[in-house]
Amino acid sequence: MATHANNFRNLKNFAPVFAIAFYLKFKGNYKYMSVILALESSCDETSASVLKDGKILTNIISNQLIHSKYGGVVPEFASRAHQRNIAAVTQQAIEDSGIKTEDISAVAYTQGPGLAGSLLVAAMFAKGFALSRNIPLIGVDHLHAHIMANFIDDPKPSFPCLCLLVSGGHTQIIHLTDYLEMEIIGNTIDDAAGEAFDKGAKIMGLPYPGGPSIDLLAKSGNPKAFHFPTPKIPGYHFSFSGLKTSLLYKIRDELKKDPDFLEKNKADLCASFQHRIVTYLSEKLLLASKDTGIKEICLAGGVAANSGLRNTLMLLAQKQGWNLYVPAFQFCTDNAAMIAIAAYFRLMKGNFSSPEENIYANYRKSVK
Ligand code: ADP
Ligand code: MG
Repeated sequence: MATHANNFRNLKNFAPVFAIAFYLKFKGNYKYMSVILALESSCDETSASVLKDGKILTNIISNQLIHSKYGGVVPEFASRAHQRNIAAVTQQAIEDSGIKTEDISAVAYTQGPGLAGSLLVAAMFAKGFALSRNIPLIGVDHLHAHIMANFIDDPKPSFPCLCLLVSGGHTQIIHLTDYLEMEIIGNTIDDAAGEAFDKGAKIMGLPYPGGPSIDLLAKSGNPKAFHFPTPKIPGYHFSFSGLKTSLLYKIRDELKKDPDFLEKNKADLCASFQHRIVTYLSEKLLLASKDTGIKEICLAGGVAANSGLRNTLMLLAQKQGWNLYVPAFQFCTDNAAMIAIAAYFRLMKGNFSSPEENIYANYRKSVK
């Protein structure tokens, strides 16, 4: 053990040398090597994608159904399922792309943020793949990738643009001036929008993940049936925990008067709860657009799949003269295609990662 530890420590001393050697080896060649294999395993989707010259060829996603039994992601089950699935998902992504394994010129993986045990699966697989084939490695920031999903299909946003990133773990307004240059100008101070959907659904006894369940029921409900207060947070920042509590109290109080209240009013509750989340998100985005004068607006993250949010932003775009960009459905929730496109922009700048780099669980302000 001691010898292994010492060897590792010695190796670590050479990290800068490895990084420089890696850079020199691939410097200048990267523009001719744009077949990227990308892997994603940050939460409960195992996904692999192959990209050639900026175009996505495949995007294979394996969902983990086991978590629905528990009403949320169980980290240990998630990492075990990633381990079981990663080889098969990767193999299918390569086979379906028609690309030969030896023609893959770089490997990308989600470096963070996410569940540590889950992140490690794609990270280790990608490092093994890159080292065994002697090709460069690109560690990608998961949130940057969600935003870059807007650059997969045409038409693509131009810079500067604003992005509303709404996912299970994050709610942010980001100001982008280039593919790798961005600043978070708004953030949630507590729960994320997706979390509000998931927790709201749990309160109403709807299945996990809650977003799609609420979205579906909201279609047949009245968004004005119930009033939920708008959280008063300054600037472009958000808060969602009070909204969830007001839903809980409303249902608790009404159930005292009528035990069938929830069953009778589920669609209206979903429509009203969704309406409040959607109007809150769009009001903040409108404020950011007015203050910055930016009318190139894009949407990202799992909650971008919400039909209420899409419709509201489309109407707002018409009224405000925005160019609105929304990624295709399959690129909104976690997927490896978004990792591949984010890696592509880093590859174009010769921005590789060293195999020595570790995963990270919490979000980072900068993605350079
Ligand atoms: P994360 O990357 O933080 O895990 P994802 O980008 O995978 O999050 O998005 C998952 C989140 O998106 C979940 O909270 C889920 O409820 C939400 N979501 C997915 N589809 C919809 C929808 N149609 N309406 C609202 N929320 C949705
Ligand atoms: Mg995600």
